[in-house]
Amino acid sequence: EPSTRTSKVVLITGASSGIGEATARHLATSGHRIVLGARRTDRIAAIARDIGQAGGQAHSRQLDVTDLDSVKAFVAAADERYGRVDVLVNNAGVMPLSFMAELRIDEWNRMIDVNLRGVLNGIAAVLPIMAEQKSGHIINVASVSGHRVDPTAAVYSATKFAVRALSEGLRQESRDLRVTVVSPGLTRTELFDGIANPEIKAGARAMVDQASIPAGAIAEAIGFAISQPDGVDINELIVRPTAQG
Ligand code: NDP
Repeated sequence: EPSTRTSKVVLITGASSGIGEATARHLATSGHRIVLGARRTDRIAAIARDIGQAGGQAHSRQLDVTDLDSVKAFVAAADERYGRVDVLVNNAGVMPLSFMAELRIDEWNRMIDVNLRGVLNGIAAVLPIMAEQKSGHIINVASVSGHRVDPTAAVYSATKFAVRALSEGLRQESRDLRVTVVSPGLTRTELFDGIANPEIKAGARAMVDQASIPAGAIAEAIGFAISQPDGVDINELIVRPTAQG
């Protein structure tokens, strides 16, 4: 009976580092069966091995969220292995901050492909399975940048506002699905390594040094949403460091 299921099948995109990795480790500790996806297969394989050695259940599979076929294959493999998909955590994301006048158009497109199209690909891949199950939980990792816009974050914010918008639309349309948006504030991860402009990168790093939370804090928030009874949908959680302005 799904409403009392305590060991859920949880698929996590972008599980090779940061929030995705922390979420995989945390949820495995709670007894859930984890499928880790990312492009860096060596990393997700090592994390899955680690989880297994600690007594948890996890396996990994190569995943590029920008490629619908890759996402479909990732979800299908999990469904074949476990016979169901309870939770999809759409976590993969990139944040190459820049001023719009720099015209880093390839980076704009990358953010749209990973942060927005990647989430849509995940939703498209799990919806038929969750519709058949008449239950499921889609957790989309947005950002404080999905609530406010700052210089250098115009396109990043645009993708995260979009994630919140599509999550709300999906929630309204789905009677059997839980849809949760988790919006992290400054979190210590590798996300800032992807900023090409050295001054912007240094500024972002300084902000993280001043005020940030560990990725595990976001993992806890995701775990909280998952642990609610089936009839209770945590719509959105914003999790900031206390000292973040
Ligand atoms: P990391 O850089 O540590 O993790 C990003 C993850 O996304 C990696 O596992 C990476 O794996 C994966 N990824 C990137 N591109 C793809 C792709 N095409 N296909 C599959 N996976 C991909 O950063 P975070 O943990 O911080 O980021 C996780 C999420 O949290 C993102 O959506 C980010 O926007 C959001 N966030 C983070 C904040 C922070 O302060 N850190 C604040 C607000 C939101 P790989 O390269 O192996 O594919």
